[in-house]
Formats: sequence, structure tokens, C-alpha cells
Amino acid sequence: MVRVTVLGSGDAFGSGGRANSAYLVEGAGRTFLLDCGPTILQSLKRFGRDPGEVDFVLVSHLHGDHFGGIPFLFMEYRYEKPRSRPLTVYGPVGTERRVRALFAALYEQTAREPLPFALRYQEIAPGTPAVVDGVRVVPFAVPHVAELVCLGYRIEVGGRAIVYSGDSGWTEEFVAQTRGADLFLCECSTYESRLPIHLAYPEIAARAREFGCRRLVLSHLGSEPLRHLEEITLECAFDGMTLDLA
Ligand SMILES: [Zn+2]
Ligand SMILES: [Zn+2]
Repeated sequence: MVRVTVLGSGDAFGSGGRANSAYLVEGAGRTFLLDCGPTILQSLKRFGRDPGEVDFVLVSHLHGDHFGGIPFLFMEYRYEKPRSRPLTVYGPVGTERRVRALFAALYEQTAREPLPFALRYQEIAPGTPAVVDGVRVVPFAVPHVAELVCLGYRIEVGGRAIVYSGDSGWTEEFVAQTRGADLFLCECSTYESRLPIHLAYPEIAARAREFGCRRLVLSHLGSEPLRHLEEITLECAFDGMTLDLA
């Protein structure tokens, strides 16, 4: 069985008091984080999960609500529950530079000192499938912001396929990538507002039938969709939700 635990279903603004983007994926003997927003330690601990379980981190793009929690993982592994096994952070071009800079900004002295575990960074390029720690990852470029490489992922683990939109405006890639998938975690930042960099609920609803996934779950929910929950008929994520892909 593959299990996805929603650790953060909110947007960058913590709308509705929801935590920032992070999903814990477990399957085939691996446990990893798909995005790691700044609220990562609060969410893991709130839902009774041990941060030490995390084998690796996979980042969609370098916006704070998606990678800002990585230095806090390092702090946990340095002081609170010392880690000895290696950790790899996978993400788009710039991941190592941005995480190092963020760690240095947040904990200047600690960031200068050696960590008790081997830390590796590995770049993921759109269009180049990779096998990371036994998990097949198909990264695809999504239209979000021009200054960053922003990725969506199709992740194949334990015989199941999970598609994650990351942050994105509409792209036909979602139709192609969700074919035969078990789960599509799709961002839904707005409702009335139409932005080229995010998805609005009516846009998703109009195309949802074309997705070839078994289950569609909306996440990265902003204040607009949260105000319209009564009218939303597609399934919405919540913090602590577990999705079992049997
Ligand atoms: Zn975001
Ligand atoms: Zn973003």
C-alpha cells in the first residue's frame, strides 16, 4: 500500500490557518517529503510523525511555502534528534544554492558548522525521468513564475502513480500526466481570481473529467476556494488527511 499524508494543504498565506505545502509519501519501504514548507516540523509532530523517518526530500520549486522548512529539518536533525544517515534534497536548478542561503540567513552560526549527517543535493531537470532512492520520478515543467524552473511530478512508487501539480497555471500536461494515475494532487489557489501563475477552481472543474486519475484531490487552497467550500464538489485536502492508494 502507498500512503500520502497531507502535512500542509494551505497556500503561501496560511489561508484558513492551514499549514504550508508538504506531503509525506510512504510506499515500497521508502518515506519521503514532497515539498517542505516552513510549517514542516509543526505538522509532522502534530500528526504524530517522526521527522527522522524521512528518507529524502523532493522539492517542486523554490518558493518559500514549498522549501522554506528544509533548514528546520536540518535543525531537528542537528539538535533535537540527531541524524546519522544521509539525506538528499532533490529539486530544480538552484536548490542547493537557495537552501544553503536560507539556512545561513535563519541560523547563521549553525549553518557554518558541520551537520552530523551527509547532506547531498541533486538537481532534477524537467523531462528527464530519474530514479531517486528506488522511486521513479517523472518531472515536468509547469507554468508558474518565469524566474524559476517550476516542476510538477509524476511519481511511481509501490506500483502506484501520484501526480503532483506543484504551483501552476493551467497546462495540458496535467491531462497527459494523470493518465492511469492513482492520485492527482492539484493546486487550487483561487476561485474568482484568474491568474496565469495559479489555478482557479472553475478552471479545474471544467477540465476535471479529462484527467485520467482515479482520485483528484485539491490542495494549496487559498482564501477564495476556502470561502466557497460549500459550492466546491471536487474533493479538497485538509491538514492531516491520509490518502491510501491500495
Ligand atoms: Zn505555493
Ligand atoms: Zn509558488
